[in-house]
Amino acid sequence: TAMLDGKVAIVTGGSRGIGEAVALRLAEDGADVALTYRDSADRAAAVAGRIRAMGRRAWAVRADSADPTAVCEAVDRVAAESGRLDIVVNNAGIGVLGAVEDLSLEDIDRVLHINVRAPFIASQAAVRYMVGGGRIINIGSCMAERVAFPGGSLYATSKTALTGLTRSLARELGPRGITANLVHPGPTETDMNPSGGPGADMQRDLTALGHYGKPSDVAATVAHLAGDAGRYVTGATIAVDGGFAA
Ligand code: NDP
Repeated sequence: TAMLDGKVAIVTGGSRGIGEAVALRLAEDGADVALTYRDSADRAAAVAGRIRAMGRRAWAVRADSADPTAVCEAVDRVAAESGRLDIVVNNAGIGVLGAVEDLSLEDIDRVLHINVRAPFIASQAAVRYMVGGGRIINIGSCMAERVAFPGGSLYATSKTALTGLTRSLARELGPRGITANLVHPGPTETDMNPSGGPGADMQRDLTALGHYGKPSDVAATVAHLAGDAGRYVTGATIAVDGGFAA
């Protein structure tokens, strides 16, 4: 039997990129997986289809992370339909870069709502269902550790907030057997950060390894934390960043 057999995971933003890789990897490891998305209904359905083809249950749930009610309802729905909830991966996020004086109040609210408030609310909702222990895994960014170029004030602020959330959840939920950890990806080949995009060469040069990572690189660390191997890891921040922050 696979190591996550019988477990149920929810991955926010699982239609593309890192979240897609995480959803598929957790399913490979044996979990039933729900994934949320905002716009990419077809992509989300395709990921769910691949998970079902592995013999697992899967749910693709439209839930805009900017909408707190939608986030709660998605968690409630998955727990109700699956009968349990063991793993939440707060992955959905947006990157808005810009000179500090050019960022609008709307930009600030949007980024904080999606990147910070949604993980907070999803964690709140999920822990209510984590009866025999659980796993909360937040996806941050290497820019929370090293702001190596200008324009990152808003994005880095949002990702740094996850440190406080993760550590507090770890401290508070440890007695219930629930771990909380933070994974900081570095430059990772996705729609958000294509390896051929402007600024890609600069990002490559900022890593120690000199190249982009793949979504599956991040997923491997998430899977480690989600599984039994991660049982004594909590409150930790783990970089999967090619040495960006070294
Ligand atoms: P992508 O832009 O490639 O994919 C984003 C995913 O999140 C999609 O599934 C998207 O759904 C979903 N999403 C975005 N906004 C919302 C929303 N409002 N509500 C629900 N779902 C939403 O991003 P990545 O895979 O590159 O990034 C994933 C995470 O990793 C983010 O938190 C990002 O900040 C972080 N990260 C990424 C890095 C990189 O280099 N790629 C580096 C460091 C951190 P839909 O398809 O419906 O739009």
